Amino acid sequence: MIKVESLTKKYGGFTAVDDVSFTAQPGRVTGFLGPNGAGKSTTMRIMVGLTPASSGHAEIAGRRYADLPNPGLEVGVLLDASAQHAGRTGREILTIAAQTMGLPKGRVDAMLERVSLTPTEANRRVRNYSLGMRQRLGIATALLGDPAVLILDEPANGLDPAGIRWMRDLLRGYADQGGTVLLSSHLLHEIEVIADDLVVIGQGRIVAGGTKAELLAAAGTLVRTRDLPTLSRALVAADLHFVESTGALRVEADPDVVGEVALAAGVALTELRSADGAGLEEMFLELTAETQRDQKSEGVAA
Ligand code: ADP
Repeated sequence: MIKVESLTKKYGGFTAVDDVSFTAQPGRVTGFLGPNGAGKSTTMRIMVGLTPASSGHAEIAGRRYADLPNPGLEVGVLLDASAQHAGRTGREILTIAAQTMGLPKGRVDAMLERVSLTPTEANRRVRNYSLGMRQRLGIATALLGDPAVLILDEPANGLDPAGIRWMRDLLRGYADQGGTVLLSSHLLHEIEVIADDLVVIGQGRIVAGGTKAELLAAAGTLVRTRDLPTLSRALVAADLHFVESTGALRVEADPDVVGEVALAAGVALTELRSADGAGLEEMFLELTAETQRDQKSEGVAA
């Protein structure tokens, strides 16, 4: 499993990663979600020893990455699919990686097949690969040593819908066999369908975490009525918190509680349901908006 403890990374006076702690469990896909610039890549780079932390540390299977004797056998990593040697063929890249890890050559063909790169494609130079093909090759490299842990930074980037479905199935199968998967994304919907657990990061800080089911349940209740003022007053009187969004109210309470408050207030409802992912999306949009505001104000200051 993966354990990140109080990880902080400062670049000069700027804190890119701020006291980040979370775990990713075996047999589960953990989604690391946050808008661009939130600190996902930096966290992942620290986890695999590519960037030194300012403080805190990360462990994979109980050890720091630098202490793993043959890291490729313990953890598969895909951080930047474009960072592969452009002049080499896909097959060459996998062969060199297999040699470095002391793996039999047959493993290369098995992995090419696993990620659906044809022999012709495998013999093409990587500079002529599409981003989707690079992602497949990167995933093949990550899986090569049959590690128990996978760390993937935005692996769905550049994949078409069929490619995304393929990767989702691959990672699901991998986790179902007991593997630990940590994958990042800046797209809520992309990660919502595959992740069992979510860790949400914004501006370097963890803002939410838990099982997907918990986070979705915490979204509360969506309620609609033609008489918003009366319902709002009744909710305030009942000490229930809510926010208005697109003509509806999202209330921090279960639907049966909200229904009873409405009934007592004599308000006719046109909709009453669990808010599902709406709360998560709202939180995520707020985060994104704040990040954008920050960038704007930075731009003004500069
Ligand atoms: P994400 O992966 O979530 O998009 P990153 O981890 O790449 O975010 O970046 C987090 C923040 O740290 C960004 O504001 C980025 O500009 C900054 N950052 C990343 N690397 C460096 C660096 N080497 N020097 C200075 N700032 C950096």
